Amino acid sequence: MKEITASVITIGDELLIGQTIDTNSAFIGTELNKCGIWLKRRIAVGDDKHEILKALVNESKDTDIVIITGGLGPTADDITKPVLCDYFNAKLVVNEEALENVKAIFQKINRPVQEVNLRQAEVPENCKVLPNKRGTAPGMWFKKGNVIYVSLPGVPHEMKGLMMDSVLPLLKQTFSLPHIEHRTLLLAGKGESEVAEIIREFENALPSHIKLAYLPAYSLVRLRLTAKGESNVAEEVDEQFARLKPLVKEWLVADTDISLVEAVSKLLRTKKKTVATAESCTGGYISHLITSLPGSSDIYPGSIISYANAVKQDLLGVNQETIKTHGAVSEETVREMAAGLLKTIDADYAIAVSGIMGPGGGWSDKPAGTVWIAVADRNTMEATKFFFRFNRERNIELTANTALNMLRRFIIREDSNSIAAGS
Ligand code: ATP
Ligand code: MG
Repeated sequence: MKEITASVITIGDELLIGQTIDTNSAFIGTELNKCGIWLKRRIAVGDDKHEILKALVNESKDTDIVIITGGLGPTADDITKPVLCDYFNAKLVVNEEALENVKAIFQKINRPVQEVNLRQAEVPENCKVLPNKRGTAPGMWFKKGNVIYVSLPGVPHEMKGLMMDSVLPLLKQTFSLPHIEHRTLLLAGKGESEVAEIIREFENALPSHIKLAYLPAYSLVRLRLTAKGESNVAEEVDEQFARLKPLVKEWLVADTDISLVEAVSKLLRTKKKTVATAESCTGGYISHLITSLPGSSDIYPGSIISYANAVKQDLLGVNQETIKTHGAVSEETVREMAAGLLKTIDADYAIAVSGIMGPGGGWSDKPAGTVWIAVADRNTMEATKFFFRFNRERNIELTANTALNMLRRFIIREDSNSIAAGS
């Protein structure tokens, strides 16, 4: 089976000067990969006619699909359409459906349509128009020689909508693509290299059409099995997945592609329990992670961001003497924070964190990166000290993930204890 390959060209000066980070090609690469198309190259070019033309010529030499994003807007710097006309030797024509779409969008927001906006409905005559439900610039699909070209707006959510609604279904119709199946495990609390050691034999024994990828991030490791074949490979990948799971059982958070906070929220929801947070060094970041998920009010009543010692004392009831004697970053303080939180907020579980995130603020017995985390319910409490040695941003991420994972383990352990006790 011939491998179908693609290239992505992102257009815009802002991408080159670092003002905008190119997230479009990451999304396109992920989605193409999922359906068995190999993204060979991604390149970024400025709003420059010659650069865009050169990229179109080069990228189409050895790929089947060229996907372009950006430069479809109504402003003078948006030059993708005239360049495409040049490249395909085509004229611009008005597309009626796109014109109706532009008018309808302006009517909805109650603004007069400008001449420049109407021009968004113009497309090169040789393209197939991909209607854009989320914006004024339609997507465009071209064929020249054996190569498919797709031009999409730069605005990420419009690009994503068009990819999902039109481009991927059309690519699947156009090319004969392999069957691809992914299975993902999320692990927490074990380093990537240690995991690799544990599953080495399993990995070495994988057939060549099933690949294992390690995707590490902030104390988490995702393990992704990808099977590729001409016929259905689901059964085969499921078999391997079933063999892999018991090897990493101890650190297994989820056997679907979800985040740690999603897994913890799901666990709480299943048990009909809630958690509150007392956050010093993370300044509300754990709260942000939890509340970023829709429906979080079921499991999350709130947080006390006790950054200053006075707030730890006044709102959480931490003893002034405790802080004086042991310091704000200490086992005693986080324990009192967690206990005080459960008195202040009606929740089943508490997470309390206090640490020094760096770069400054540390001293010899408590260097920057020292963090105490406590998790508790109304009967039990545990507190652990950690040492994270990265920059401030990573230390905050690591603290949040570690705290969430501590809570997850605390709940699971409580469960197995109550089963053992026969309750
Ligand atoms: P518009 O009609 O809004 O002008 P457009 O197709 O002309 O859309 P651009 O002007 O290139 O697109 O970009 C629109 C917005 O999308 C900008 O905010 C830009 O920073 C963002 N954007 C463009 N390309 C990318 C990219 N590759 N990754 C992430 N964001 C991007
Ligand atoms: Mg624009």
